[in-house]
Amino acid sequence: MISTNYQVYQSDLQEVLNEFVDFSGQVCVNGQIKDENFLVDVSVLEKSYSYQYLYCPNTPLEEKRLQKRFLKLSLYKSLVSYTGESLPWGALTGIRPTKLAYQQDENFEDFFLNTMLVSKEKTQLIAKILNTQKGIYNRDSNNKDLFISVPFCPSRCEYCSFISNEIGKEPLKNEYIDALIYEIEASKAKIDNIRSVYIGGGTPVSLSDDLFYKLLNGIGKQNVEYTIEAGRPDAITQTKLEMMKEFNVTRVCVNPQTFNDKTLIKIGRRHTANDIMEKYRMVKDFGFDVNMDLIAGLTGETFEDFKYSVDTAISLNPENITVHTLSLKAGSILKETVHKLTDREVSLMVEYAHNALAKAGYNPYYLYRQKYMAGNLENTGYAKPNKECVYNIDIMEETTDILANGANAVSKKVGENGKITRIGAPKNTQAYLSKVETLIKEKNLLF
Ligand code: SF4
Repeated sequence: MISTNYQVYQSDLQEVLNEFVDFSGQVCVNGQIKDENFLVDVSVLEKSYSYQYLYCPNTPLEEKRLQKRFLKLSLYKSLVSYTGESLPWGALTGIRPTKLAYQQDENFEDFFLNTMLVSKEKTQLIAKILNTQKGIYNRDSNNKDLFISVPFCPSRCEYCSFISNEIGKEPLKNEYIDALIYEIEASKAKIDNIRSVYIGGGTPVSLSDDLFYKLLNGIGKQNVEYTIEAGRPDAITQTKLEMMKEFNVTRVCVNPQTFNDKTLIKIGRRHTANDIMEKYRMVKDFGFDVNMDLIAGLTGETFEDFKYSVDTAISLNPENITVHTLSLKAGSILKETVHKLTDREVSLMVEYAHNALAKAGYNPYYLYRQKYMAGNLENTGYAKPNKECVYNIDIMEETTDILANGANAVSKKVGENGKITRIGAPKNTQAYLSKVETLIKEKNLLF
């Protein structure tokens, strides 16, 4: 429990507290402005800590930013003192550390290391990502990405916290695809300066051949980066790949998560590691670029298990490999039956992946954090040179408008000053069907 006299920052402080997963107890954070200083008193159970920061904001916005920063930092430092544990991302809690790095007027490394107490390794990781993004990172407000959500999967994975429904149990899939095409069609006039197209959500290739073709046809042929989350190998077929080729898809996600069969069973995936290899070769035979997702910290996996998955993925030589750290969010089955690897173990897995991928010629190119991540770590996308996914960079750095379609899809308009206006569609299929007309009107006004 946390209490503060700056209630407006209560949830920000709670985020810092949540990162200390093994701590429980009463915490109090109070701040006050005195002359040109901001003073913070923190109590953590029976212990008290005091901090003083130079405070000379020039604008009301800077005033808020500094107050929030000093309160969070004070809480973080107090918890480090109390627990003896420091965290890789220090007092940073947001999901987009790279975006924060771009926003720094001063040298971001100094801010990360010395102000927010981020570790040297994570600061260097951000510097490498910013370097890889050179030439792709683009703030032109006329640019757009097109996102299409297909929230159906062959079965539900144990760790999944998305809204994805088992396709076999979805009675409204035909109506959903019709509504989705209608929504895309209605935004076609706005579809200019498209940088990338991304069909994700769940597993779009779990649709029947007829529905899949109907959707691709509704979107139309593209001449930009065009990604489809094929995700699960049990849903990838020769026919679907032929269809993707016909509509100029360029990039396909074949996501093993792990190459260990025992883990695949445990996490509810109905396929083997061999199926992944077989489908990967099939996808490569069509000439698509491939992304492979891996997860560090899966149920029962040891360092050696994860190392095997990383080494196997590298040996297959896909253009992109994304290393996720397990996030036990509300909504996942796994959350209910949490197994707990130590933070140290997960951190060693992530470190191994980073070094092995660098050695194999992959550069980190985008990164994001989520709540409740094992080891308080991050998800990092790695790419072979010139194979970075534009959509992943755009969505994380929030530099480009996102014209999103479908259930649970969030459209974003990036304003002149970087201010973002969002329109979120309902998560539930039925609710989406009822709201599609309203969504079209709202998007037409926004874009
Ligand atoms: S494939 Fe992805 S979206 Fe589908 S159930 Fe598994 S984790 Fe969820």
